[in-house]
Amino acid sequence: MTRRRLGFALWRLRESPTPTRYRAHCLICAAHSSDAVSAGAAQQWCLEHAGRTHHSAYEVAWIGRFDAAMEDNTTDIIGTADTADTADTVHSRSARQS
Ligand SMILES: [Zn+2]
Repeated sequence: MTRRRLGFALWRLRESPTPTRYRAHCLICAAHSSDAVSAGAAQQWCLEHAGRTHHSAYEVAWIGRFDAAMEDNTTDIIGTADTADTADTVHSRSARQS
């Protein structure tokens, strides 16, 4: 058992500097491309797959990454509790060990 202070904290999403990726997906056989750095490269995979298989329905997904970070000094303490030693984070609510 660990004594913890419980409170609410503000979390913010920020777009990661990781480059956007694109992935093509065949709706006929579920084959998919590897991640591509451009939509054009994913579309090229669709055309090559169509040429080999004659499959004619595709989706191209945009894949972006976001990083969540807790804002500093935004925790409002709502009490203390004895808790087990486990991570206890749900949505924007978090517990900080004191
Ligand atoms: Zn296919």
